[in-house]
Amino acid sequence: MIKLSHITSYLTCPRLAYYRLKFGEDSFTEKHAVKEIYRCLRMSLGIDWAKEKAKALNKFFCEETFNRALANFKLAKELDKFKPIDWDVVYNSEKLGVSLTVDEIVEFCNETLPLFVALNAPKSGVWFQDAVKAGVVAVVAKFEKSIIYYSYSGEIRVVETDFGMKRKSLKLIERLRMIEKGFLPERRESEYCRFCRFFEDCKRTPETFASKFL
Ligand code: SF4
Repeated sequence: MIKLSHITSYLTCPRLAYYRLKFGEDSFTEKHAVKEIYRCLRMSLGIDWAKEKAKALNKFFCEETFNRALANFKLAKELDKFKPIDWDVVYNSEKLGVSLTVDEIVEFCNETLPLFVALNAPKSGVWFQDAVKAGVVAVVAKFEKSIIYYSYSGEIRVVETDFGMKRKSLKLIERLRMIEKGFLPERRESEYCRFCRFFEDCKRTPETFASKFL
């Protein structure tokens, strides 16, 4: 099944999504850390619990990464207006071949909405990858609106999914499905290559004509 993290990996580099689909995820990032910190603070379980949980759930847990995320994390007072309904809710679509996890389901002004926890906020609106998350949850679970919580500045932003974003999200899912079948996408060299654990293999693997279409 394609996961939301494969789709966001594709936005970083299509070939990275190929490798992650094939070999799995292998890291503990600040994003992983803030999700646990957010959830445990919202549930009044405290930071020690968040750290122990992150350690237990991720074999790549890194104390330094967790502490860096914690130092930047802010829990906004305004979040009190969003009533927690559930956490880590999984939505699957057999037809689309997609499985996604929503960080929190909240109730706000009599509406039930999915909430995703992110790091730094853009100047206005939301980052494209967050709009894509909202697009995917719209096509898979029929939520027309999502909340993005930018935890490093404590900002809450709402994103409404229009027809254009649903179409873009479906196009991304289509590409990921082709990659899942074994099509290798072209390389997209960037700063990220310096940290990519697939660098050596990627350098050795030539592009094919089909790569251009992914
Ligand atoms: S090395 Fe660079 S181009 Fe290759 S998969 Fe990693 S990020 Fe993509």
